[in-house]
Amino acid sequence: MNKTLLLIPGPVPVSAPVLEAMAWPMINHRGPEFAELLARLERGMRPLFGTEKADVIFLGSSGTGGLEAAIANCFAPGDALLACPVGVFGKRLIAIAKAFGCTVDVLETEPGSGLDAAALAHKLKSDTERRYKGVLLTHNETSTGVQNDMAAYAPALRAHGALTIVDSVSGLGASDFRMDEWGYDVVVTASQKALAAPPGISAVAISRRAWERIEGNDSSRFYFDLLKAREFARKGQTPWTPPISIFYALAVALERYHAEGMPGSWERHARYAAAIRAAFEALNFRIFSAPGAHSVTVVAAVPPGGVEAANLLAALRERYGVVLSGGQGDLAGKIVRFGTMGDVGENDVLGAIASIERALADVGAASSRGAGVAAAEESFAGLTAASV
Ligand code: PLP
Repeated sequence: MNKTLLLIPGPVPVSAPVLEAMAWPMINHRGPEFAELLARLERGMRPLFGTEKADVIFLGSSGTGGLEAAIANCFAPGDALLACPVGVFGKRLIAIAKAFGCTVDVLETEPGSGLDAAALAHKLKSDTERRYKGVLLTHNETSTGVQNDMAAYAPALRAHGALTIVDSVSGLGASDFRMDEWGYDVVVTASQKALAAPPGISAVAISRRAWERIEGNDSSRFYFDLLKAREFARKGQTPWTPPISIFYALAVALERYHAEGMPGSWERHARYAAAIRAAFEALNFRIFSAPGAHSVTVVAAVPPGGVEAANLLAALRERYGVVLSGGQGDLAGKIVRFGTMGDVGENDVLGAIASIERALADVGAASSRGAGVAAAEESFAGLTAASV
């Protein structure tokens, strides 16, 4: 009998202490215990965002709710925005902005590449009339396994002055992020990714500049009204009944996160991603992300010629209990995606790679058994350059 190994890029395996926290009794969400819990969560999240100045607001929603809150509160119908998608989730930001009546210019990027800092700088420089009220960015694009170099974009963005909204749903916590230093305005993440908690909470960090915009914006919003969220956060509450059990779980997950330490978490995600890339290459997959743009939280790879991604994923799931993701949007059926986040050990990664070797044989691919595991082991042992 196989144990299921969930290695998708979220939701991720959650440790037993985090799961157990969800069985704790309910508390009054308008009482002192919840206020203490909320304060603890804010203290725990702040360093991950790299901010001492921003407010961190917790919403009872998945990541998309946090993104909707960011856009609905910062912008109004008719506002012109620049979107810089590098995959499906970047496109979702555009869809949200359009749903709230914004007009969106798109800076296109080749799939698999990261956003080019020079192209962004050029685009912003050409906006001499400062038409763009906001810029929509993705820190880590889960659909292509691409991580953008957020530090590199900061100078041009600051020079332009538009409000910046960053989707770091699948990035925050897994690598260094410096909201204050880089000058980003609204950064959104969610509980079910690198934080290694169950889904159900999004965390939105909001700069002073963004608050000024939000305060002056009377466009429609209700459940995701960030002004209301701030008003209640100051009392140690949320405006609406929060998912208390998931708040408990996130608090325990954050304690565990900080016990490992931020650099430890960054190193772990990078180490796993490097080993997985090494294994895929040894098994004749093509890494979808371009060199220099590799995500540390998800590795996207094109299977060797003749191997249908869907058949491989089905064999992995049905015969070996290993659950990886397929492609989304235009990449459906073309790639497989292997997540590194959550309560996952090196042995889980090695076991999944061994299962990929077996599944390749099952679907009739000629591959050398053991080559992927050996490459990953060498990578773990530091015998190959771990390019991040
Ligand atoms: N943005 C990115 C980069 C994501 O990876 C995801 C989910 O995978 C989302 C947004 C949407 O988050 P959710 O599914 O939590 O609403």
